[in-house]
Amino acid sequence: MRPATRAAIYRRLRAANPAPTTELLHSTPFELLVAVMLSAHTTDKSVNAATRNLFPVANTPATIAALGVEGVKPYIRTVGLYNTKAANLVALARQILEQHGGEVPGERAALEALPGVGRKTASIILNMVFGQPEIAVDTHIFRVANRTGLAPGKTPREVEDGLVAGTPPEFRKDAHHWLILHGRYVCTARAPKCPTCIIRDLCEYKHKTPAPKAKRGGVGAAIRRGGTRKAGAHATPGRTRK
Ligand code: SF4
Repeated sequence: MRPATRAAIYRRLRAANPAPTTELLHSTPFELLVAVMLSAHTTDKSVNAATRNLFPVANTPATIAALGVEGVKPYIRTVGLYNTKAANLVALARQILEQHGGEVPGERAALEALPGVGRKTASIILNMVFGQPEIAVDTHIFRVANRTGLAPGKTPREVEDGLVAGTPPEFRKDAHHWLILHGRYVCTARAPKCPTCIIRDLCEYKHKTPAPKAKRGGVGAAIRRGGTRKAGAHATPGRTRK
């Protein structure tokens, strides 16, 4: 894809959504870390349902650690793999307390050393909390980058490297959110909404979904056929002649 096309795609995504952000509910860096960690292999909706109950009770490393694994579980039952995630969450809270003074660390190595935190979660935290222009690649971004031609790749890391290398600096900070939202709501896995997609003419996907055909037999067709509309149906009132 030509750099000018890439920039044009981002310009349109930015024009449509100038201040994109995550749909995960959070009000502190630690809450964001917990929410992103819980969101692996599950929807933001189910994570929000869990954290709405969890955070009023425990939203700091100290309170999560105090709750313990069995104490955390009932709050996150809506989340897939909640047994494993509960154990990771409590271990993560303890590690942050013991090694980082209770603060979410701002280095990739320290983040990825936390239980349940991988490259994608670390990238999101580095981007959203520490303002680093990282582009985390999830399933939506992987699909959008490949379909559009923004950054084709066989693995998430290959796509991430392509996006980081090819995204103009002015768009790097928000690229993750624009692409994830585009993949979630427009360029969906099974039926991408190509006919109404704002980057359709710039996208290189060869199998775009076609626009639905106009219905045959509408009013225009009826008129062309010689007028078979029912009397009175949106008809202009006229004088009755005898
Ligand atoms: S045109 Fe279709 S395939 Fe391309 S980005 Fe838009 S929705 Fe996705």
